[in-house]
Amino acid sequence: MNAFIDIAAPGISELKPYTPGKPISELERELGISQSIKLASNENPLGTSPKVSEAIQSAIPELARYPDGGGFELRQALAEKHRIDPACITLGNGSNDVLDMVARVFLAPGGESLFSQYAFAVYPISSQAVGANLVIAPAKEFAHDLQAMRERVTAKTRVVWIANPNNPTGTWVGKEALYTFINDLPAQVIVVLDEAYTEYVDQNDYPDGSQWLSEFPNLIVTRTFSKAYGLASLRMGYALSHPDIADLLNRVRQPFNVNTLAQVGALAALQDPSFIERSVEVNRVGMAQLMAGMEKLGLNYIPSVGNFLTVDFARNAGPIDQTLLQLGCITRPLANYAMPNHLRFTIGLEAENTRLLESLQKVLVE
Ligand SMILES: *Cc1c(COP(=O)(O)O)cnc(C)c1O
Repeated sequence: MNAFIDIAAPGISELKPYTPGKPISELERELGISQSIKLASNENPLGTSPKVSEAIQSAIPELARYPDGGGFELRQALAEKHRIDPACITLGNGSNDVLDMVARVFLAPGGESLFSQYAFAVYPISSQAVGANLVIAPAKEFAHDLQAMRERVTAKTRVVWIANPNNPTGTWVGKEALYTFINDLPAQVIVVLDEAYTEYVDQNDYPDGSQWLSEFPNLIVTRTFSKAYGLASLRMGYALSHPDIADLLNRVRQPFNVNTLAQVGALAALQDPSFIERSVEVNRVGMAQLMAGMEKLGLNYIPSVGNFLTVDFARNAGPIDQTLLQLGCITRPLANYAMPNHLRFTIGLEAENTRLLESLQKVLVE
C-alpha cells in the first residue's frame, strides 16, 4: 500500500505504469550473459542513419543552451514533408508526449475516452491520469471494430484513439471504413489517429490520415521518429492537426519539451529517405522470415503490417518468455494487454530473427 495514495489525484490510484521492454544491459547484468538480442520494443534493427550521428556530433557545442522551444527549423521541414502550414504541427518528446497533451487538453473527470480492446497501452494511461472515464470497445479478431467503437460514442465522448496499425496486434483499418467512421462522428469529438508505424505499411487500402486534416478539423494525426527513423532514444514525435488544436496543445506543452539533439537529429533523418527505404526493405524480408519460421514451428500469429509479429502460443506464454530471456532473447510479453498467451516479436536483422526462431524451437521441444 502506497502511503500517499489517498492524496493522489483521481485516477492515479488505479493507474498501472507502462511496462517497457527490458533493456539489454539489464538482462545481461541480471543473468551475467552477453550477446543477447532485443526484439521487444519495435526499434529499428539497422540503428540510425549516419547523417543523424553526424548532425548530433556537430550540435554538441550547443548543449549548454536551451533548445529552440518552438522547434522552428524542424517544424518547417515537417511542414514541407506534409505540405501543411507549420502552425498545424506540434512537436513532442516522443509522440507519447503529444498523446499526453491531447489527454490534458480534452479529457477531464466526467469525460469519456474511447478506444479499442488491445489498443496501445498509452491511451488508457494518459486518459486515466487526468481522471477521464475509459470506454473500451471489444476488438474483432484482435483488430479495431469501428462499428463497435461507433456504438460507444456518447454525448460525453471527448477523445477517440485509433492506432493504425495498432500495437501490439499489428492490425490496421482500411481507408473507406476509417473515413466513414470519422465522417460519422460528432464534430466535437476529437479523433487521434496514431500512425507510429505508417512507414512500414504496404497496403493499397491503407489511409494516410494527414490527407484528411483539412476536411476534419477534429482530427489529430500523430507520427514518430522512434520506429522506422530509428531514433527511439532521442524522443521525438509530433502531431498534425487544425491550427486551433495545435494552439491548445501548445498551451500545455512543456516549454522545452524537445531537446536540441532530438531536433537536429530528426531534421537530419528527414534528409535521408534512403535509410527509411532500407529499413522498410529489411523489415519486409524479416517479416517473411519470421512468418515462415512461426509456421514451421506450428505457431499461429496475428497478421501484421507493422515491424513486429504477435504470436499465439495457445497457452500461458510467461514461462516461454522467461526461457527466451535465459537464452538471451528479450521479447515482449503481453499479459498487461490481457493477451497472456501471446508474445510480440519485433522484426530484427536476419541473424537476430534466426536466433529467435532457433531459441523458440529449443523452448518448444523442452
Ligand atoms: C511506439 C509507439 C508510439 C511511439 O512512441 P514514441 O513516444 O514516439 O516513442 C506511438 N504509438 C504507438 C502505437 C506505438 O507503438
